[in-house]
Amino acid sequence: MGAFEIAVLGGDGIGPEVTAEAVRALEAIGQRFGQRFTLHEALVGQAAIDAEGVAISEQTMALCQRVDAVLFGAVGGTGVGNPNSPTEPMYSLFRLRKDLELFANVRPVRPLPALLGSSTLKRATLRGVDLLVLRELTGGIYYGKPSEIREGPNGASAVDTLIYTEAEIERIARYAFELARDRRTRLTAVDTAHVPRSSRLWRRGGDRGSADYPDVTLRHMLVDACSMALIRNPREFDVVVTENMFGDILTDEASMLTGSLGMLPSASLGARRTAHGQFGLFEPIHGSAPDIAGQGKANPLAAILTVALLLRYSLGLKRAAAAVERAVRQVVAAGYRTADIAAAGEQAVSTREMGAAVVARILGD
Ligand code: NAD
Repeated sequence: MGAFEIAVLGGDGIGPEVTAEAVRALEAIGQRFGQRFTLHEALVGQAAIDAEGVAISEQTMALCQRVDAVLFGAVGGTGVGNPNSPTEPMYSLFRLRKDLELFANVRPVRPLPALLGSSTLKRATLRGVDLLVLRELTGGIYYGKPSEIREGPNGASAVDTLIYTEAEIERIARYAFELARDRRTRLTAVDTAHVPRSSRLWRRGGDRGSADYPDVTLRHMLVDACSMALIRNPREFDVVVTENMFGDILTDEASMLTGSLGMLPSASLGARRTAHGQFGLFEPIHGSAPDIAGQGKANPLAAILTVALLLRYSLGLKRAAAAVERAVRQVVAAGYRTADIAAAGEQAVSTREMGAAVVARILGD
C-alpha cells in the first residue's frame, strides 16, 4: 500500500464544491486500487483572507512545499483583484506558482465523443481532436515589474512589463519538445514575433531546442492565426507551447471545443521530483464562478479530471489515472449532464450527483 501526501486547497466560490467531488473520486481510487492518500486541507484565497488575514499563510505555503501534490479548486470573488497584494485572493495562486517554480502548465484538450453536441462548433470539426497546450506559467506580463497605474497631471497612465529570460524560454521549449516526442511529434510554438521583442526571443528559444529533437516537427504560428485555427481546424494541433498570457487566453478558447470551461483540467509542474514522480499543482482551468456558487450547478468534471493528472504526473499511478478518465467518459456517455453541458430540454444533474456518478463508475469498474 502506497502512502501519498496531498494538500487540498478548495478556495472560493465553486472551488470547494468541485474540489469536494474531486476528493471523493480520489478516495474511491484509493479504495479501488488499495492506495492510501493522506489529505491535508487548508484555506486559500478569500476564505483564507477572512479567517487568517492573508490569501495564503506561511503554514500553507510550507505544507505545499512538502507534499507530493496540491489539489487546488479556484480563488477569487466578483471583483478584479491585484495579484501582487497578499490580501487579494489571486495572490495565493501567483505565489504558489512562483515559489513552487511551477513553470509548466499542461492543459490537455480532448472533447469527449458523447459531448460533441455540447459545443457550439460542428461535430465534424471536433471529432478526433486531441491537443495539449503547454502554457509557460511563471514569467511574462503577469510577473514583470513595473506594473502600475500612474496618476499624473494630464490623467492616468498604466504600465505593465512583459519580460522573459532566454533560460525561461529554453526550459519551457525543451519541456514542449519532450511532450511532443511522447505524442504525435508535432509542436506549434505560438508567439507574435512581428511585434514584441520578447516574442522574437521566444522564437529563437524554440529554434534552438529544435536541434536536439530532430524527430519533432516544429512550426511557428502567430497568436492571432492560432486563435483562428483552433476553431477552424483544431485537429491540426498536437502540442502547442506559448507564453503565460497567450496560453491563458487560448485555453479558455480551446475549452469551448470540449463544450464547457467546466471540462478542462490542468497540471502545473516544476522541476522538483517527489518519491513517486513530478511535483505539481492540479486545478481546473476555470475560476470561482461566483455567478453559480452555492447552487449545486457547477460541473465537477474538470476538477475530477485534475485528479487523473495528479495520479499520473505526481504519483506515478497510471492505471488509476486511466480509471478516473474512463469513469468520466462513462458518466457522460450514460447521459449525465450538469447545466453547462446540457442541451436545451435535457435534465441537468447537480454537482453532487455528477460526482457520485463518477465515484460509482470508479468503484464498479
Ligand atoms: P470563471 O471561470 O469563474 O467563470 C466564467 C464562466 O464560466 C461563468 O459563467 C461560470 O459560471 C462558468 N463556469 C466556470 N466554471 C464552471 C463550472 N465548473 N461549471 C459550470 N460553469 C462554469 O471566470 P470569471 O467569471 O472570469 O472569474 C470569476 C473569479 O474567478 C474571478 O475572481 C477571477 O479572478 C477568478 N479566477 C480564478 C482562477 C483560478 O483560481 N485559477 C481562474 C480564472 C478566474
